[in-house]
Amino acid sequence: MEIVINKAACEGHGLCELTAPQIYGLDEEGQAVLKQPVDESNQAAAEAGARVCPVAAIEIRR
Ligand code: SF4
Repeated sequence: MEIVINKAACEGHGLCELTAPQIYGLDEEGQAVLKQPVDESNQAAAEAGARVCPVAAIEIRR
């Protein structure tokens, strides 16, 4: 499983961070970044954060 954040699409709403703060954060430019690797133990949180992104900038590859 791989999380890919489309930086060109990200508008910095921060909803991913709000939903899964252990997984997502915002960098100094206000764009989403991964804060830790994603595996089975935190997959559900990563998916929840991806789902709330209003511009679908977080892609989950399996
Ligand atoms: S919710 Fe989407 S647009 Fe907002 S910071 Fe996260 S990835 Fe970017």
